[in-house]
Amino acid sequence: MANILVIAEHDGASLKPATLNAVTAAGKIASGIWGEVHILVAGKGAQAAADAASKVAGVAKVLLADDAAYEHQLPEDIASLVVSVANGGYGHVLAGATSVGKNLAPRVAALLDVAAISDITAVVSADTFERPIYAGNAIATVQSADAVKVITVRTTAFETAASEGGSAAIEQVAGAGAAGLSSFVSAELTKSERPELTAARVVVSGGRGMQSGENFPLLEALADKLGAAVGASRAAVDAGFVPNDYQVGQTGKIVAPELYIAVGISGAIQHLAGMKDSKVIVAINKDEEAPIFQVADYGLVADLFKAVPELAEAL
Ligand SMILES: Cc1cc2nc3c(=O)[nH]c(=O)nc-3n(C[C@H](O)[C@H](O)[C@H](O)COP(=O)(O)OP(=O)(O)OC[C@H]3O[C@@H](n4cnc5c(N)ncnc54)[C@H](O)[C@@H]3O)c2cc1C
Repeated sequence: MANILVIAEHDGASLKPATLNAVTAAGKIASGIWGEVHILVAGKGAQAAADAASKVAGVAKVLLADDAAYEHQLPEDIASLVVSVANGGYGHVLAGATSVGKNLAPRVAALLDVAAISDITAVVSADTFERPIYAGNAIATVQSADAVKVITVRTTAFETAASEGGSAAIEQVAGAGAAGLSSFVSAELTKSERPELTAARVVVSGGRGMQSGENFPLLEALADKLGAAVGASRAAVDAGFVPNDYQVGQTGKIVAPELYIAVGISGAIQHLAGMKDSKVIVAINKDEEAPIFQVADYGLVADLFKAVPELAEAL
């Protein structure tokens, strides 16, 4: 029996939702091999995050590496820690396919000399997984013979594990210290009253059709009526209308909200790769031939500069 190690993404006090999705994927692997799901929380003063992890349903043990070296959770440092922990009998190491998980998993895999299995969307068995390729146009079924399978989990493909109901024991583990390969300089975090893009129930995204960043307040007014996050196509990001953490798509964020409203977005496959699993898709575009209408549940052929203010007003 080998256990499954989930790497917690946290802010010292609470877990990020992506960790709860990774726990669900870990649970599916565990059920096939009679293994246990453990969570590794690495940080400085991260007891509260470990406490939160211990309450997650389905988690058998929490490993807490509380060390000044992990204050900023630099991936070079966390990777060495994960390797030292994983070598103690883990068959799988899982993290969310977020910017944090994607930064960590390949480093862990390289140090373990195994292949990283990225962005899984289904667990077929303990060694076989599904993952999208070609911008989501095909699903590859991949089987791994590696002793340790290092995996990132597409959060939108797995339900969020219940954050209450568990009572896992918390065990302290010794940190591996700082690797000395990188150092923390500063963090500039986006502050927004709106929900985080990947966790939002509603997302309003703008594309090149918005014409400039000065027009994005039109979308923000709509988003605020709906309690929505604001996203963008890559064209809008590349043109400098909005920062790149707004980008939805193959090389941006993957979202699957209840409602996705695409405004002035043509619907290139690379954009669809990031939002086509949304429950309801609404498109506003003045070109009735725009490919976005092929995936939209509701399409409005209209000039966005007229339609969006009208919609916000009606709401
Ligand atoms: C390797 C690779 C990765 C990529 N990754 C991503 C990614 O992660 N995310 C992403 O989005 N793209 C990505 N792209 C780019 C992608 O191919 C498209 O270029 C991009 O999505 C187009 O953005 P857009 O729809 O905003 O712009 P356009 O394709 O220019 O579409 C603008 C749309 O706005 C409409 N419009 C214009 N004015 C108005 C108006 N007044 N009212 C209503 N509608 C209007 C037009 O009819 C048009 O359909 C990637 C490309 C490559 C090659």
